[in-house]
Amino acid sequence: MLKWLDVLKLARDGSPTPLNKVVKSEEEWKAQLTEQQYYVTRKKGTERPFSSEMCSLFEPGIYACVCCGTKLFDSFEKFESGTGWPSFTQPLEENAIAYIKDSSFGMTRVETLCNVCDAHLGHVFQDGPPPSGLRYCINAEALTKVKATEEKIVLGGGCFWCTEALFQDIKGVKSVTSGYSGGHIVNPTYKEVCSELTGHAEVIEITYDPTIISIRDLIYLHLITHDPTTLNRQGADRGTQYRSVIFYKSDAEKEIAESVIAEAQELYPEKIVTEVVPFSVYYKAEAYHQNYFNSNPDAGYCSMVIAPKVNKFRSKFLAILKE
Ligand SMILES: [Zn+2]
Repeated sequence: MLKWLDVLKLARDGSPTPLNKVVKSEEEWKAQLTEQQYYVTRKKGTERPFSSEMCSLFEPGIYACVCCGTKLFDSFEKFESGTGWPSFTQPLEENAIAYIKDSSFGMTRVETLCNVCDAHLGHVFQDGPPPSGLRYCINAEALTKVKATEEKIVLGGGCFWCTEALFQDIKGVKSVTSGYSGGHIVNPTYKEVCSELTGHAEVIEITYDPTIISIRDLIYLHLITHDPTTLNRQGADRGTQYRSVIFYKSDAEKEIAESVIAEAQELYPEKIVTEVVPFSVYYKAEAYHQNYFNSNPDAGYCSMVIAPKVNKFRSKFLAILKE
């Protein structure tokens, strides 16, 4: 994660090398861009504040350079700054943006450019929200929103060997990994998590294509494939590491999680105790935990506990399974 001192260093010493460079003539840019896009990106212009709807849009997606299409920011890092310009706390990749000391208008500021095509984007300031403390103040004219085809969500529903096995089968799910989240220890081990002293839960990180399966459906499947009404317990597994939890990455995701819980509540006589908490960091578990069910079909726990669950799930949800 970049912080203010990193930005100053990059502005002083030169920006990280981009993967490629796009170079076009002024005529080519003029032909490609609208007048306003050209003015902002190629002539270092500034649009009027509050001139774009993009300021108040927070739906998931990626913001790319309007000139060359390089992906610059994730909606996850977008926040309401009240300035009238789209604001982000972090670029998508550290080499996406170039930084230049800008002493125009009698102020010393740090200008931000697309590192691939040198389009002027805006400036970066040190008064953004934690943890980076950065505010990338970007002209909406310099950005174009691209629909995300890959999103991630972290869910906890007891033993990750089980939950991973179920979600691996679903159409639109690109990958599932087992890990830990929600605690306070950096890079915890399985043994540490089992001690219940780390605060971490056993979780899975699902990478999915939101154009094929929605986050709403994933959360619903999560809630009906484990018991979300037992506090810190799934069947015989007891402990806070087995708690039922949904980690959200935006207010929109939080609202979806809460509304799906209300919907799923009708299926359970007992109250759903699933935690809905902000996502902070996910630690992938040790290699031997990954793809556990498929790699260890003969292990007792797999054949006795996971296989019946997987078979039941497959027979019930045939329509949404991978071919
Ligand atoms: Zn660009």
